[in-house]
Amino acid sequence: MAYTYDDTNIFARILRGEIPNKTVLETDHTLAFHDIAPSAPVHVLVIPKGPYVSFDHFASAASDAEIVDFHRTAASVCTKMGVSLDTGQGFRAITNAGENGVQEVPHYHLHILGGRPMGRMVAK
Ligand code: AMP
Repeated sequence: MAYTYDDTNIFARILRGEIPNKTVLETDHTLAFHDIAPSAPVHVLVIPKGPYVSFDHFASAASDAEIVDFHRTAASVCTKMGVSLDTGQGFRAITNAGENGVQEVPHYHLHILGGRPMGRMVAK
């Protein structure tokens, strides 16, 4: 199945400036912003600015510059939010993909969650 990007999704609208976001960090290739319905004291979403549906789409199709910038920005978010192992108590990074991954927004995003113990990784 081919990756099909729907540019009406809410994160595409955020990237076009059509709806607001609470930005944590922004670079040429990446935007990080607070989740609108946080599941933990720290809940930041990191997204590429390019039209990628999911982690596997991004990791297989994005340029090296986009992939490097995305991960460096995610690391900077961890530091800025005080959850990096360098200075804080850790975090969980999650990405959901597709139907079985229970992905709501079809634009690749990495959730960075912390500020409390995050519990078990997944329900059995
Ligand atoms: P997922 O289920 O992995 O696709 O996660 C989508 C996430 O996007 C959820 O945690 C939502 O709370 C979050 N979300 C949806 N709309 C917005 C928005 N306008 N601004 C920030 N976060 C949002």
